[in-house]
Amino acid sequence: MHLLIIGGSDAGISAALRARELAPTVDTTVVVADAYPNYSICGIPYHLSGEVPDWHALAHRTRADLEATGMQLLLEHTAVAVDPGAHTVLVTDRHGSTHQLPYDRLMIGTGAVPMQPRIAGLTTLGPADGVHLLHTMDDTFALAASLTRRSVRTAVIVGAGYIGLEMVEALVQRGLQVTVVEQLPQVLATVDPALAAHVAAELTSHGVEVVLDTLVQAIERDGEALLVRGANGFQRRAGVVLVVVGVRPDTALATAAGVTTGSKGALAVNRRMETNLPDVFAAGDCVETYHHLLGATTYLPLGTTAHKQGRVAGENAVGGDREFAGSLGTQVVKVFGLHVARTGLRDHEARAAGFTPLTTAAVADDHKAYYPGAQPIAMHWTGDTSSGRLLGVQLAGRSESQVAKRIDVTATALFHGMTVEAVSDLDLSYTPPLGSPWDALQLGAQAWVRAVGDRLAPPPPPV
Ligand SMILES: Cc1cc2nc3c(=O)[nH]c(=O)nc-3n(C[C@H](O)[C@H](O)[C@H](O)COP(=O)(O)OP(=O)(O)OC[C@H]3O[C@@H](n4cnc5c(N)ncnc54)[C@H](O)[C@@H]3O)c2cc1C
Repeated sequence: MHLLIIGGSDAGISAALRARELAPTVDTTVVVADAYPNYSICGIPYHLSGEVPDWHALAHRTRADLEATGMQLLLEHTAVAVDPGAHTVLVTDRHGSTHQLPYDRLMIGTGAVPMQPRIAGLTTLGPADGVHLLHTMDDTFALAASLTRRSVRTAVIVGAGYIGLEMVEALVQRGLQVTVVEQLPQVLATVDPALAAHVAAELTSHGVEVVLDTLVQAIERDGEALLVRGANGFQRRAGVVLVVVGVRPDTALATAAGVTTGSKGALAVNRRMETNLPDVFAAGDCVETYHHLLGATTYLPLGTTAHKQGRVAGENAVGGDREFAGSLGTQVVKVFGLHVARTGLRDHEARAAGFTPLTTAAVADDHKAYYPGAQPIAMHWTGDTSSGRLLGVQLAGRSESQVAKRIDVTATALFHGMTVEAVSDLDLSYTPPLGSPWDALQLGAQAWVRAVGDRLAPPPPPV
């Protein structure tokens, strides 16, 4: 049997590794458009900041590690057409020669591509001018070259999502003066405005100019520099411009072969990661994502999800029987000294899904106040008022406050359908330098329970 995998990032390599683990006799070939299999693109901002100076260190595994598992890698080979009837894939190599590769099972992990908003100049200017998108290692090298070649001092970042914010920090660390421009009235639109306000304050305290409610409309050459223009008379000169406004699933290859699409135009898959075509699986940023809480599909392109879906696809492709358990959209971002995380649904999302949610805010110290260094964690808790079920949590706290691990506790509670009140019963660890007898999370949960009416039922009337 021959398993062919298109895409050599999180989803594709996870599928290949699982297949090799379970079925060492299955020939497994991974076709990768670029020369960087299994690179952690999540680490790109930390290479560009200088914290990870050698880009090779971003590889989850080296090429030799991968090949040692028995998989074959066809690097710098691009799949250009899938013939599902003949069970073949047409690929072009780096010299432009074409080859037909047969498959018994195919796994498509083509990922996502950066969205290109309608900004005049974005398609005519490019990396040579200092105008950049950021998704691949080649994009990374191009941006690094711009930063060095042009010895720039100023940058405009368009988009204040998590990648934009990570890049703001990276460029500030390199000594640039950075302006971040966002069309929405808040940064980090994936969390509630009150928590996003902490992020904006953190950016400002590090000298970043935060411009909200401003749609960027044009990027032009202005001598050696670039001029960015937007709504309400916005104008900034910069040496480099980075446009990071989200991604869309890369589906062209699969849809041309007849794979149907679902949520947000991503490839439609069932929980076994099967497409509508026989023997064709798909996983990662190119597919829709089953949401564990909604029991329906959505589009949530995340590295954690791509790894899990790829593993499920790889297992099933070699004869296994596994279902993707679903995502909760759990994510965390570091913005200088602030960590912001969320899991599950926000109030409006829960309402749209048919729940009757209540969201409450709470603030609690990360450890006992008498022990030096205690810091507040700001929390938003969302629960269903009719069932008491936990629906979502958002946290913002300092880097010492273990925000990422605390959100993971709530993600675990959500995954197992716990009520908000039951979080208060969890046996969590405590020592004064690290926590409190009631952990910050439990104080947040108790605040929610109080808000919905934490009263004892009245005693029965005397008979
Ligand atoms: C800067 C940055 C930071 C991020 N940070 C985080 C984070 O902190 N946490 C998190 O969970 N997620 C993060 N992500 C998102 C995460 O990286 C993606 O969700 C993940 O990489 C998706 O993996 P994938 O395999 O589906 O697709 P991709 O990583 O997009 O890879 C697609 C693969 O397919 C190949 N390919 C595409 N078309 C073809 C073709 N026709 N023929 C052959 N090969 C092809 C590409 O070369 C590549 O190997 C970040 C993303 C970026 C860009």
